[in-house]
Amino acid sequence: MSDRPVRVRIAPSPTGDPHVGTAYVGLINMAFARRNGGRFVLRIEDTDQERSTRASEQAIFDALRWVGLEWDEGPDVGGPFGPYRQSERTPIYREHVARLVESGAAYPCFCDGPALEEIRKRQRELKRNKGYDGTCRAIPRDEAMARMAAGEPHVIRLKVPDGTTTVHDELRGDVVIDHDQIDDQVLLKSDGFPTYHLANVVDDHLMEITHVIRAEEWINSTPKHILLYAAFGWEPPKWVHLPLLRNHDKSKISKRKNPVSLLYYKQIGILPEAMLNFLALLGHSMPDEREVFDLAEFVNEFSFERISLGGPVFDVEKLLWLNGVRIRAMEPAALADRIRDAMLPKDWLLQVVPLFQERMRALGEFMPQAAFFRQPALDVPAAELVGAIKGGGDPKVLAKWLTEAGERLDGLRDFEPATIEPALRAWCEEANVPTGTLFMLLRLSLTGRKATPPLFETMAVLGRAACSQRLRTAAATLKAAPAPKPAPGA
Ligand code: GLU
Repeated sequence: MSDRPVRVRIAPSPTGDPHVGTAYVGLINMAFARRNGGRFVLRIEDTDQERSTRASEQAIFDALRWVGLEWDEGPDVGGPFGPYRQSERTPIYREHVARLVESGAAYPCFCDGPALEEIRKRQRELKRNKGYDGTCRAIPRDEAMARMAAGEPHVIRLKVPDGTTTVHDELRGDVVIDHDQIDDQVLLKSDGFPTYHLANVVDDHLMEITHVIRAEEWINSTPKHILLYAAFGWEPPKWVHLPLLRNHDKSKISKRKNPVSLLYYKQIGILPEAMLNFLALLGHSMPDEREVFDLAEFVNEFSFERISLGGPVFDVEKLLWLNGVRIRAMEPAALADRIRDAMLPKDWLLQVVPLFQERMRALGEFMPQAAFFRQPALDVPAAELVGAIKGGGDPKVLAKWLTEAGERLDGLRDFEPATIEPALRAWCEEANVPTGTLFMLLRLSLTGRKATPPLFETMAVLGRAACSQRLRTAAATLKAAPAPKPAPGA
């Protein structure tokens, strides 16, 4: 195995905005590949048909390229191990699962929703950790085959044997897991599509991946994956689970505390080389503790030994500092080009200009009106937010509205006027809040102004990440505001 040429991959799922964690894991994979003369693969894991979109996939490609990642193989660049998009590999998974059923390593399970509920209840009563109890293992093989052939709805599960599995993580050493803790996991769903576990393992094997370098949150899946390799009779790759990125309070990085979308950082004018430098500092230290460096220097020094497992903090202040260092080091002419290209890119102007065209009398009116789009952050005072509501309002209640409406928006598959508007109207209806009231509150929180181009178009151009961040800021401002004084005489 060790003499196989190094091949590593990232395998993002195209749901929502491109995540900083994907760029982080991508950078480590790419550095390891470059350092070892290997290949870096990008595979799209779009088996979740409901949530995956092509728009999100494209945004991932664009954002990772913006940061400076380059993959040697992938859906958009091709390569000898394609297709690199899981939705195009369904026959491969079905054929592989059939092999496992054939060999007896996997079995069909006919338990439906209510039956599974019963089993879960029983398992809870028996205080067992294991999810599924293996009921359908007892069905004689011929009978199971006949029921499948007759079209009875079923999933395929892995028959997890008794015993223990040792996960050897290159950073963490050995962890021994008792199979009591491992479910007879579903490999193929009733709709004939693979689960993450199956598709991930089959692809890593067929794509000859030598090292699986991924975030710590997947470590619980690794024993299942090792069992799958064993069931197929394949040699597993080496495992490297990178420390999770954390908020200041050490909780797992989340958009509730920090923007996690790469698009957000691009939009506020973080330089891609500063972003790359910042990601490279998370958990990995340079031999001389140097903090400002470029990709080539990082690749030169990269080693797993230099990764600490302490849970690196995603510190936005540090990112801004690194960005400032680079800004100060630039020639003014170069900086001027960067500002123009980053802050007034043509594709963005083409989106925004139509929103203002109707009301513009001189070109000079454009920048002041459109400036709110480009501000890194808006800090609208509580009094203004409350003042937007007829008759005022309790800031705590307004904060709650913004939080709830914001969560509705975060959950949207596509972020465009045609999806934003109905989602917000539905929320107003459920929460019994007049639409006009919420829309004014949103307008003010998102733009700092009472008069703007149409709200939903404005939101779509602003983008999900910036909207989400601004709504969170406004909600926090409102939460911190004093409660309204009771009206005189009340
Ligand atoms: N599709 C998984 C993700 O979204 C891949 C995890 C892995 O690298 O195995 O990150």
